[in-house]
Amino acid sequence: MIVVMRTGSTEAEIQAVRERIESHGLQSHLSQGAERTVIGVVGQILSNLQTELERLPGVAEVVRISKPYKLSTREFKEGNTTVKVGDAVIGGSEPIIIAGPCAVESEEQLMSTAKVVKEQGAKILRGGAFKPRTSPYSFRGLGVQGLKLLAEAGEKFGMPVVTEVMSPEDVGMVASYADILQIGARNAQNFNLLDAVGKIDKPVLLKRGFSSSYEEWLLAAEYVLSGGNSQVILCERGIRTFESYTRFTLDLAAVPAIKKLSHLPIIVDPSHSTGSWDLVIPVSLAAVAAGAHGIIVDVHPNPAVAKCDGAQALSFENFHNLAVQVEAVAQAISRVSTEVG
Ligand code: PEP
Ligand code: MN
Repeated sequence: MIVVMRTGSTEAEIQAVRERIESHGLQSHLSQGAERTVIGVVGQILSNLQTELERLPGVAEVVRISKPYKLSTREFKEGNTTVKVGDAVIGGSEPIIIAGPCAVESEEQLMSTAKVVKEQGAKILRGGAFKPRTSPYSFRGLGVQGLKLLAEAGEKFGMPVVTEVMSPEDVGMVASYADILQIGARNAQNFNLLDAVGKIDKPVLLKRGFSSSYEEWLLAAEYVLSGGNSQVILCERGIRTFESYTRFTLDLAAVPAIKKLSHLPIIVDPSHSTGSWDLVIPVSLAAVAAGAHGIIVDVHPNPAVAKCDGAQALSFENFHNLAVQVEAVAQAISRVSTEVG
């Protein structure tokens, strides 16, 4: 349910509505747009609450939200959510590039990659320190040492950094090094982890689970939003289908569809979805053309010897080609006019 306040309603009226909602043991979430103020009501709603709230001063209307995801739906918020980290804005008209190695392997590997991706226009540096691997015998990341290197690289090259957090107990520690916390596809429905990142004051990059529907994905986002963290970036990274040529099947329709359903920014991972470096550039261009707010790409100084996901990593030269072509597509479709909502 959302309470739409009248234009010009006072702070005191807004506060009174929120207090009334909370007096019923429910949560109230404020969304203040240029045109209207909306208060989201979350929890087990009593049948007569609607009439009760409609009578309060300053209330224009009380509308039931049919979608199960109450805070991530477009109905809750006017306009798009933009997430700002350092100089990067995710969710605006300009598509941004997040790039870096799948896993932080060494200082040399990370610093050389960070330098190149920064020079080529990447706005955010990625690098895994805690890696969810299918086999326990695969390289599982450098852990805290990887986080330290990542934070150093971010500092040195002036880029915010994003890295995955795998368990609720690690959230505070990872947040002390990273600017954005990533929830991986395999943890997309780890509800305790989602609760934990809902309580921090840093953006969350929420990958789509590879068997999550849009609704399940937006409900995962809802865990973070309802915990009080409004800075969620969604990431389409491919889903499981019968096709085995690509690593996963990238669902590109998710980009315009999610933009219709939600105010949250959405980016695309062309690396983990395709699993092949030679598919990464065309898929990235398609993602940008489809309206994605950005892409997150694996880059490695020497993909042939990468400890993780080398087959999908771009070399420095290919990353350069990607950056040039993404820029060309973004300009060709003058992204500002293609924004939904
Ligand atoms: C990653 O980005 O490093 C990763 C493991 O991605 P996903 O969770 O989408 O597989
Ligand atoms: Mn990977």
